[in-house]
Amino acid sequence: MTEAAGGEVLDGRSVAAPERGATGPPGEAGGLQEWLKEDRGDRPAEEVLGWAIRTFRPRVALASSFGAEDVALIDLWWRLDAEVRVFTLDTGRLPEETYGVMDRIRERYGIAIATYCPEAAAVELLERERGFYSFRRSVEERKYCCGIRKVEPLGRALAGLDAWVTGLRREQAETRSAVRQVERDPTHGGIIKINPLTDWTTEQVWEYVRIHDVPYNRLHDRGYPSIGCAPCTRAIRPGEDIRAGRWWWERPESKECGLHLAPGKEA
Ligand code: SF4
Repeated sequence: MTEAAGGEVLDGRSVAAPERGATGPPGEAGGLQEWLKEDRGDRPAEEVLGWAIRTFRPRVALASSFGAEDVALIDLWWRLDAEVRVFTLDTGRLPEETYGVMDRIRERYGIAIATYCPEAAAVELLERERGFYSFRRSVEERKYCCGIRKVEPLGRALAGLDAWVTGLRREQAETRSAVRQVERDPTHGGIIKINPLTDWTTEQVWEYVRIHDVPYNRLHDRGYPSIGCAPCTRAIRPGEDIRAGRWWWERPESKECGLHLAPGKEA
């Protein structure tokens, strides 16, 4: 057991003490306990991310699918600290355009992207026994595929971390309406989950991307506001919800892949 910033004790996980200044003056940052308070309002994204980097480095990383929020966060992290730590889940079914933006991000920022792939044996069994589009048959089949291609690799990616950073925003989906900037992640051993952009609007994300000329996924220009695996993502029509193109054959409340579960909810 290790005592973390603010006196928090994390089960079996070390949490580096924050550098001098990380706790900052009142109203600017604060210790972990203060950040976890339910009634703490939203803070500027750079303040949240800066605190997370100082407090948890090197056991913190950004989980990125290279959507607009994620590339904005990579740029923001790079401005705060050149040693950007980013990982992605290479499901084996990603669109070409996603590999394209990953390479442009690597070159632009001079960073390595850690990829986590599904276990080969599990994918072989899935395809041999259930076919190549089993996820279209039912929510259960879809979650089975996400479990193999996303959830299990994410578990490995998070195994050595005390905290992870995501681009989740409340506006994105019904399932994300209660997301807070700093929260415990009970589905991953109680590590800390940091969501600096919770209160950003879509317009704010794109304003950031354009002002800083951040490389982004070309599919965004073709009507894809949210991008996942190629066979499970389509463009949306004007007026549709921004997550309408993800698993479009399912009801909105089931549209999570098991990576971002609210406490008490099942995938
Ligand atoms: Fe499988 Fe689709 Fe989930 Fe990707 S998004 S892991 S292809 S079900």
